[in-house]
Parts: sequence; C-alpha cells; structure tokens
Amino acid sequence: MSESGVREVIVIGGGPAGYTAALYAARANLEPLVIEGFQWGGQLMITSDVENYPGYADGVLGPEMMKDFRRQAERFGGEFISDDVTRVDFSALPLRVYVGDDEYRAESVIVATGANARQLGLESERTFQGRGVSYCAVCDAAFFREKRVVVVGGGDSAMEEANFLTKFASKVTLVHRRDDFRASQIMIDRARANDKVEWITNAVVDEVLGETVVTSVRIRDVNTDEVTELPADGLFVAIGHDPSSKLFVDWLELDENGYVLTRPGSTATNVDGVFAVGDVVDHVYRQAVTAAGMGCMGALDAERWLAAREGHLETALTAPRE
Ligand code: NAP
Repeated sequence: MSESGVREVIVIGGGPAGYTAALYAARANLEPLVIEGFQWGGQLMITSDVENYPGYADGVLGPEMMKDFRRQAERFGGEFISDDVTRVDFSALPLRVYVGDDEYRAESVIVATGANARQLGLESERTFQGRGVSYCAVCDAAFFREKRVVVVGGGDSAMEEANFLTKFASKVTLVHRRDDFRASQIMIDRARANDKVEWITNAVVDEVLGETVVTSVRIRDVNTDEVTELPADGLFVAIGHDPSSKLFVDWLELDENGYVLTRPGSTATNVDGVFAVGDVVDHVYRQAVTAAGMGCMGALDAERWLAAREGHLETALTAPRE
C-alpha cells in the first residue's frame, strides 16, 4: 500500500476466482486486500463432495476446499475483510470500494463476485443442500449412479442436466411449471428422445422430503393443486443463475442477463484498472476450476496493467474503451 493509503489491488469476492486472484496478486507482491463477503466461500459452501477439482484425488468437501484456497492466499500476504461491499465508485483513480462508511482505495480492482444458482425458495430445499439437493449436474451427477433423480426447470440447463444425468441415474423425472418449454427445440428433442427421462409438466416441487438425505419430493399440479409424492434420491434445481453484479451497474458494461462483459481473451472490463473474473462473467462453464483459472488471469492482467502505468495515478478513467 502506498503512503496515501492507496492499494495496488482490491479483490471483491471470496470464491475460487477471488481467492485465486488474491493468491497470484499476493505472490506478485501486490499485497491484495480481499473483500470476501460476509458469507465468503461462494457456491461451494453449499456443495458437499467435490470430486472434479484437479489435485484433490480423493475428493474434498466444498467448504474445506474454500478454506484451503483462502489459506493459500493468506499465506502469501493476502488480507481479508469478511464483509460485503456496499458501493463502488469507479469514476476516477484511485478506484473506490466501500464497506458501509469505510472507504478503500486502489489502483486496480478485480471483481470476482460470482453468481448464485436460483433456488426454489423452500425451507426443505435448504435443509437438504449437499444431501441430495444440487444445483450442478456436472458436479454431482456421479453421486447418483443407479438412483432416481428429479430435475426442475424448462430451459436449456434443465434439458442438458436431465440428459447428462441419464448417464448415471436409473431414472430422471423432469418437472416443469408450464407445458411450454423455454429451452431450444434441439435440446428438448434430445431429452424427449431419451427414454430414461420422464416428464411432469404444469407442476412444481413444493417440498423436499427425507430424514438425513432426500428420499422423495412432493409434486403439486399447478392447475388442480393435487399433490403426489415422487420417490427420489436427488433433486437437481436447474432454473437459472443470477450473476452478483448489482454493485456495478453504474460502472461496468453488463450483458442483458447482468453478466459483466470483458474484452475477448482478457479479463479487462470497460473501466481501466477494473478486471472481472469467474461466474460473474462466465455463464457457460461455471466450474470451480474455470473460475480459478480466470482468477489467475485477472491477477496477471492487473499486474501487467499496473506495471504498464508506472504510477500515473491521475489518469482519467471514465472514457469507455473501443
Ligand atoms: P432459463 O433459460 O432462464 O430457464 C429457467 C427455467 O426455469 C425456465 O423454464 C423457468 O420457467 C424455470 N423457473 C424459473 N424459476 C422457477 C421457479 N421458481 N420454479 C420453477 N421453475 C422455475 O435458464 P437456463 O436454462 O439456466 O439457461 C440460461 C441461459 O443459458 C439460456 O440463454 C440458455 O439458452 C443458456 N444455456 C445454453 C445451453 C446450451 O446451449 N448447451 C445449456 C444451458 C444453458 P418458465 O419458463 O416458466 O419461466
């Protein structure tokens, strides 16, 4: 940090992307401040076993993995604030980041605020998160070998997840609240052609049941209100994701779904010195390992940007890039 209290890098977000950005920035002697959020750790905090993160050959619990990530960034001098950023001001250098009334200033900011899988909003859904309720088939399908699973949703994700799950599960029941699907025709056709997939339309899951793990879900017909109990070992909620980008709407270019836009092949945003990484940018891959990879890219981009500037702090920042 400079004598004026301006840091070289602030990382906003404490998931795989943010901690990896912090690790690389710390090892580059940039002394990053990581404002990691009150509920740090990101989406992996509601995951149980992670078996697809390279290096953990025997698998690891999601929260344990996030503690490891955090510890590794801390080991090289990363500093952490376990609170939520409430506001940013990217109108000029130094960039300003606020936690309530506390102001933090930096020459560069790496945005790694992630995304949240949409939830059904049931109390029982929360109870069984990581114990049968999942938001990622790629991550968790292998735990449901020869088991019965339910997928909720009518978009491309739901179709893709239903198809993918049939490689493992004995039966996949797709439950959708309408009888019309938002998914593209080709994705619907693929799922329709798969005889392991059963369809329940005009229905919602309104309760997840079980003792320690999921054993069934309650299905409610939205037209008749009739309820039935469907035996199931797993519930995959595939109703979309929301990027955590509200803080940045006045400053960063976002796409129509709220994901931060970055320059192709880079993590640079439309504001000089602000980089964005992980699921707040990426709505395609959404994996811990891809988020971590982007975190590394963000730190390298920030480091190069800082080196190229050679301390020209007064440069105006507001002009958008081409
Ligand atoms: P999405 O297109 O927004 O679809 C969400 C689905 O969940 C909709 O069918 C919606 O129902 C349903 N839903 C939302 N809230 C619900 C609730 N509370 N209870 C029950 N159902 C609810 O999201 P997505 O499928 O994740 O796709 C997001 C984007 O990624 C899309 O642009 C998609 O094309 C793309 N994508 C592409 C691929 C691919 O091409 N391989 C794969 C995955 C995703 P309603 O339809 O009734 O609103």
